Amino acid sequence: VFFSILIVSDYSKSQVYKKQLEIANFKTKNLLKSREQLISTVSHDLKTPLSTIVGYSELLGNSDVNTKQSYFIKNIKNSSEYITQLVQDLLDFSKIEAGKITIEKVPFLLPEIIEDVAVNIQSVYKQKNIDLIINVDEKFQKRIVGDPFRLKQILSNIIGNAYKFTEEGHIRVAAYANEEDTFTISIQDTGIGIERENQKLVFEEFAQANENIEKKYGGTGLGLSICQKIISILGGTLSLDSIFGKGSTFTIQLPLLFDESQPNSLNEVKS
Ligand code: ADP
Repeated sequence: VFFSILIVSDYSKSQVYKKQLEIANFKTKNLLKSREQLISTVSHDLKTPLSTIVGYSELLGNSDVNTKQSYFIKNIKNSSEYITQLVQDLLDFSKIEAGKITIEKVPFLLPEIIEDVAVNIQSVYKQKNIDLIINVDEKFQKRIVGDPFRLKQILSNIIGNAYKFTEEGHIRVAAYANEEDTFTISIQDTGIGIERENQKLVFEEFAQANENIEKKYGGTGLGLSICQKIISILGGTLSLDSIFGKGSTFTIQLPLLFDESQPNSLNEVKS
């Protein structure tokens, strides 16, 4: 045993081993690069025809069609929207993996972003009996500096999930400033909840709490993993607190920086 350890340790120091390691690293890097290029090219090529399908099925759906036709058109639209989301998720995912994701730093009004996203999603799920409650700290009348586009993307995902997995009750979105220059946005729902043993799993790529979820609600299992990665790039954290059968709370914590330039208040902007 001692002899073979000696051989192994000598081998790990040898030039041959170093060269082999270099080649392996080079090959892995190249493989990752071509995978990223493949995903990115295919995704871009899929996006245009997909938006044509979604657009035309929307137009058809609004025209004079019978119930059967309307059902078919709705299915075409839902499926193509699902593929569009999957393509977007894959694009984001490969960009994050390649370290190519871009983050902006611009002034914006947090209440506007939260309301935009929440009200938009609420309109999609208007047939559900869910109260939307939004509580945003007064302090956010003042602009903050960050990436409003990424924040919208994150909130759309998490608030979208809250609506998707809740049949009745409420969804509460709250935002408040913390000490230590951070702020919190929590999204609490009274939905199906997530079993304790699956609570870590849902942040992994392509993971869903169980296969019944996939059958009943669809989805790609990529959303939360992308959110968590983007939040971490933004210097924040995403956590989950859930009771199975009762509901879930997703909590986002991000660095807080108020914009000191003009104009700075929500009232000023609205008046
Ligand atoms: P997707 O929703 O596309 O499946 P996500 O990554 O957004 O992918 O979510 C992963 C899984 O986490 C979901 O499939 C579901 O099982 C669970 N999940 C996420 N949000 C909620 C929620 N608010 N309530 C219950 N389960 C949730």
